[in-house]
Amino acid sequence: MESAKHKAISDGWIAAEKTPDEEARQKALDHYCILDTGPAENFDHITELLSRQLGTAFALVSLVDKSRQWFKSACGIDATETPRDMAFCAHAIWSDKPFVVLNALEDERFRKNPLVDSEPHIRFYAGMPLITEDGYRLGTLCAIDTKPRKSLSKQEEDILSTLAKLVVDAMALHLANVEMKKQSDAKSIFLANMSHEIRTPMNGVIGMANLLGKTKLTKKQGNYLEAILQSGESLMGIINNILDISKIEAGGLEIDEHVFDLHHVLESIKNLFMPHATEKNIEIIFEYDSRLPLHFIGDSGRIRQIITNLVNNAVKFTHEGSISLEVKFLSKNKDIISLEMIVKDTGVGIPAEHQDKIFDKFSQSDASTTNTYGGTGLGLSICRTLSDVMGGSICVDSEQEKGSTFTVSLPLSIAKKSHIDQAMKATKNDDMSDKEIKARILVAEDNLINQMVIRSMLESFGCTVDIAENGNVAIELVEKNQYDLVLMDCLMPEKDGYQATEEIRKNKKLAGLAIVALTADAFKENQKKCQEAGMNDFLSKPLQEECLKEKIQQWAR
Ligand code: ADP
Repeated sequence: MESAKHKAISDGWIAAEKTPDEEARQKALDHYCILDTGPAENFDHITELLSRQLGTAFALVSLVDKSRQWFKSACGIDATETPRDMAFCAHAIWSDKPFVVLNALEDERFRKNPLVDSEPHIRFYAGMPLITEDGYRLGTLCAIDTKPRKSLSKQEEDILSTLAKLVVDAMALHLANVEMKKQSDAKSIFLANMSHEIRTPMNGVIGMANLLGKTKLTKKQGNYLEAILQSGESLMGIINNILDISKIEAGGLEIDEHVFDLHHVLESIKNLFMPHATEKNIEIIFEYDSRLPLHFIGDSGRIRQIITNLVNNAVKFTHEGSISLEVKFLSKNKDIISLEMIVKDTGVGIPAEHQDKIFDKFSQSDASTTNTYGGTGLGLSICRTLSDVMGGSICVDSEQEKGSTFTVSLPLSIAKKSHIDQAMKATKNDDMSDKEIKARILVAEDNLINQMVIRSMLESFGCTVDIAENGNVAIELVEKNQYDLVLMDCLMPEKDGYQATEEIRKNKKLAGLAIVALTADAFKENQKKCQEAGMNDFLSKPLQEECLKEKIQQWAR
């Protein structure tokens, strides 16, 4: 490249002009998605090494952006960027070899530059352009000092050039990672969406089978129906696991903290598995450390998910003996208690060489497991991630033919009395759950099977139900009739749930009308979208009868 074109700055120093390929160069820089990203060790190691080798106060990886130079790594100086007009690096990117200023005070271009005139008082500068494979000069690797120098040796020049090549490699690696993450995110989002797509018709199958169960059936038909329901539930379990994994991968897993009764949660898990264990002639023992309070603040749903998975495996892999579920106090620090939940069985055990692997995705102790016991190998991977996200950990200790012990260690906040009182009030409402709910509800939902399932659930609670097959009909009906609650599907033809809600909210007379979204989307952003449209709450599809009832009790007043 030719040498830098200059432009005089009125304050008396000289800035480098933009390069001739500026537009394409800028595009190439943006393509790396590196500007304004956080620090990275590999870049920092290079600047540290350069500053040490050349004995300079500072070393930078500087990327020359539109109107600034931004530092991916800055060794020895606490700065992230400076204006491009002041940047020595804006001159250096014109060069093919190291661009060297031995004494800035003796160089017309830099003598009055604010970076020379005042902090950080640059005197010496040596910068090698970072030239990509396509020939774009994105910035420099440079060494800077506050004392002038007599010369830069050939060996020092070589060090600078070689390290600059390493920076270009590190940038290529950064780009490859960005692209890999993009692909992986797309895959996770696809998986999450697919799981939802599958869950919706599955919800129809299970919902309709449940309705069928309420009709008069012969014994044989009842048995067939039971098989349909069991297969449906187990398919739903697998789909839910895949959904969880994809949510975890896409970073969309959230922890929902609230007051809960840990003893109650664990005891109910024991009770859930008792019939199956008794059938197998296995005992389940539940022990709760008396030093522990009953109530904590945490995500009871996720704790339930972990322990259910562990007890389910314990029952599955044990053929004689017993299973114990024990909760142990470990320590207390202010309001936080560290505890262990231990699930121990006398089952087939896990060979030592497989014990680490079973927490990996899609991993089973050995390939024959799938044939004998079924399963997808996702459960323990989810348990590990959930424990990690809640600040805890999970480990296993096992001996083949003797049994396995899974230990979940978790820090949990102790619930204050006021929190517990509040939670108790809510439970009292739950206790009313058997009472009829005399509410008039509008269901805006376009899918015919979903309409039937929701209608039958609501009618079984005692509600009166109207159906709107799209957003326009929903608006018409809420203006005409008086509803206690609207259940609003988000995606509908003609006018979707978001638009319909926005329009309803514009009508002052309907300001108090509760609208709960029915969303099939697994991600938090969607919940935000519902709130922004003016909905009060949301229910995730496929609908669980219990959750639906809870929301109706909460909102239809
Ligand atoms: P899966 O759906 O296959 O049960 P998990 O992730 O829950 O998936 O478990 C992974 C593997 O770990 C199982 O397939 C089994 O080989 C082994 N495993 C888990 N729990 C136990 C246990 N209690 N006893 C023996 N093996 C177990």
